[in-house]
Amino acid sequence: MLEKIGELGETAVRTIEEATDLETLRELRLRYLGKKGQLTALLRRMGELAPDRRPAAGKRANALRKRLEELLGRKEAALQDAFAGSAREKERIDVTLPGAPFNLGRKHPLTLVLEEITAIFTGLGFQVARGPEIESDYYNFEALNLPPDHPARDMHDSFYFTPQILLRTHTSPVQVRVMEKQAPRLPVRIIAPGKVYRRDDDATHSPMFHQVEGLAVDRGVTFADLKGTLLVFAREMFDQGQRIRLRPSFFPFTEPSAEVDIACIICGGKGCRVCGQSGWLEILGCGMVHPRVLEISGYDPEDVTGFAFGMGVERIAMLKYGIDDLRLLFSNNLRFLRQFR
Ligand SMILES: [Zn+2]
Repeated sequence: MLEKIGELGETAVRTIEEATDLETLRELRLRYLGKKGQLTALLRRMGELAPDRRPAAGKRANALRKRLEELLGRKEAALQDAFAGSAREKERIDVTLPGAPFNLGRKHPLTLVLEEITAIFTGLGFQVARGPEIESDYYNFEALNLPPDHPARDMHDSFYFTPQILLRTHTSPVQVRVMEKQAPRLPVRIIAPGKVYRRDDDATHSPMFHQVEGLAVDRGVTFADLKGTLLVFAREMFDQGQRIRLRPSFFPFTEPSAEVDIACIICGGKGCRVCGQSGWLEILGCGMVHPRVLEISGYDPEDVTGFAFGMGVERIAMLKYGIDDLRLLFSNNLRFLRQFR
């Protein structure tokens, strides 16, 4: 009998210690201490023992019952604590968890290039000027010495609201607006970045695009000042060893006029597919402000001279980043746009 009590005690203690939930603990309590429990059954069988052996066995069995009850109570309390703890754990905010990712936007490549152009020219003492995108025929054409029969006035080239009001086809009207306001004070030194509009739409033309106009008017401004300014720009924008080339051209509002090329940034001037084997890439148009434009704007062409230039921002961006299709800039394709920072 004593042996049985000992064996039962060992098994009971081990299984109770190993229990991991309250349900199991309840089952164990029934298995050993319940009305039909194993220890209860042993106690009932005390009567079968010889009278002189009963006290020892009874004492042993009762001691075990007490021990198991204590053990069950302790274990139950421990499991209840752990359960409550894990419930609290679930409610607690874990401040060390990584946060939900926040998508940070990027600047559009055109914005990046516009900012860079602006930074270069403001560094040279130019101020930023702006003008309206809905412009009058006078500022867009007439004041810039574009005669009424000039092809740029064709309805097919521009967006007209009325015969006298249109979306500006270039940023040059800002030249006239600034000079009119400022005359006769010197010097005038501005750049005018902004949107312009033309009725073109293909792989190299967009009906809306960006230009940056530049204008400097003062006493003694020469063509050399123009070339020097543009050389500094090309070197800051592309490469400090950059070379430029000026070719004679024609614009109604400058005289003389020139197209400006930079040495091809792909082949370095040797000739490739991008530059059409010429080794040069056209980046902007420029010239000395036409005396008639100075006069219309309130300056005396006998007293002052000036230079002006205008560049396409898309063109500069495509050259700088090696973009081969203009339409990518306006397609809102995030995989494309994410490349620029
Ligand atoms: Zn080339």
